Amino acid sequence: MPLKKLLRLRHTLVFRLTLLYFLSVIAFLGAFVGYRLHRDSGHYRDVDLGLLEEAKELSLLLDSVKGMTEEDIARLFDYEIKNSYRLFVRLLGPNGEVFASSDTSSLGMDLSPIVTGILNSETGHAFKTLPLPQSHYKARILSYAIGPDRVLQIGTSQEGLQRIIEKRWREFGIVMAVLIVYSTFVGWFVIRSALKGVEEVTRTAIQISGGDFSSRVPITGRGEEIDRLAATFNNMAERIQALVTGMREITDNMAHDLRSPITRIRGIAEMTITSARDNRDYELMTGSIIEECDRLLGIINTMLDISEAKAGLSKLNISQVDISKIVDETCELFRPIAEDKNTRIIKRLSDNTFIWADNQKLQRVVSNLLDNALKYTPAGGTITVTVEGNADQVVVTVNDNGIGISRDDLPLIFRRFYRCDRSRSQPGTGLGLSWARAIIEAHGGHISATSTLNERSTFTVTLPNTPIPA
Ligand code: ADP
Repeated sequence: MPLKKLLRLRHTLVFRLTLLYFLSVIAFLGAFVGYRLHRDSGHYRDVDLGLLEEAKELSLLLDSVKGMTEEDIARLFDYEIKNSYRLFVRLLGPNGEVFASSDTSSLGMDLSPIVTGILNSETGHAFKTLPLPQSHYKARILSYAIGPDRVLQIGTSQEGLQRIIEKRWREFGIVMAVLIVYSTFVGWFVIRSALKGVEEVTRTAIQISGGDFSSRVPITGRGEEIDRLAATFNNMAERIQALVTGMREITDNMAHDLRSPITRIRGIAEMTITSARDNRDYELMTGSIIEECDRLLGIINTMLDISEAKAGLSKLNISQVDISKIVDETCELFRPIAEDKNTRIIKRLSDNTFIWADNQKLQRVVSNLLDNALKYTPAGGTITVTVEGNADQVVVTVNDNGIGISRDDLPLIFRRFYRCDRSRSQPGTGLGLSWARAIIEAHGGHISATSTLNERSTFTVTLPNTPIPA
């Protein structure tokens, strides 16, 4: 692996988590080593205690049997060694002179440097560790004062104990090394596979930022957290894709819808230049251009209103309003047009339909719905407007028996600039329903439509009866 890549690895989460895991394993093993060392020192302490015990017994024995010669004592020591597996037992004078000793000829150890200056010490005994000849094992020597001028010395080999302890450490060392290597690899592997999902999210994010909005993270059951991250990310990607597609559609539709009036303005101006004969023609041209400009401004303003309402920036002038009253007045406003078209408007209003809302905006929403119903209902049709309310909400429905909306068009009519093909003969911008939905949603309400082609259409507005902070 190149050095650069290795250095970069240091900053990865996988590396850091593995290191943390590795350190925690080491800390655990360290604690275990501490415990083992403590146990080992306990074993050595037991050896010392055994020596002390034996020295006490021997001194009592030497005290109790009077008139023993040095040979008797040496024989006693030899006997003692055979039974206790000690190295040697000696009886010394205050300056280290040997009175009696077990056989030390085969030991090959230099015992002379052992200090016997313990006669005046507080404890009356001292331990010393000496190397055993030709080996790395040790001997433990106890010097024990008996009487004012005698020192009893017992030496024992620690070889057996050392062998056991060393064997245990060797075994422990192997287990420890295997454990460290194994746990580090397993840790690395587990953490890597756990974070694989994150890598996939990153990869998908890179693809999306590169323009591939259809990219998604596969959800493959890698653990709840990762799956939740992937699902949330996919939801976000879904929304971004919908937004981008929506934006594209809006831009396309906007370009298309702005092009028609501008082309018309240009055509009017061109025609006037080439064929106008007097001021009257110029006046007519100016009037037409103003009309087209108003239409353009209307589209742009409605677009801005929708954006504001959707972003929650629309300023709602909230007060307590009676929806039945709004519907009643709006219906009366449209009645002359309806009568011209020989269309009936039936009102079904209720009492107690007061809610907190923006009076003017709701009036415009009802106007839009009534205007559509009139536009898309052939002469002789009937429009029924119903208002129903309870303590929680008010529901307004506008029903007509007009041209209806096809099943394919129905989910799209609330989109900006969307117009069904069959309604293109009627004037309109395709922004009315989109604006109405934005306003109703800004009130915390809901608007929907049902329809049967060539039979009827029903628009339902549901508004909650909760005061909205203005
Ligand atoms: P427009 O200015 O075209 O009326 P709207 O946003 O108000 O724009 O409506 C979007 C489209 O929904 C209309 O172009 C029309 O095709 C369809 N639509 C709306 N209301 C009705 C209705 N009452 N009956 C049939 N079609 C309707």
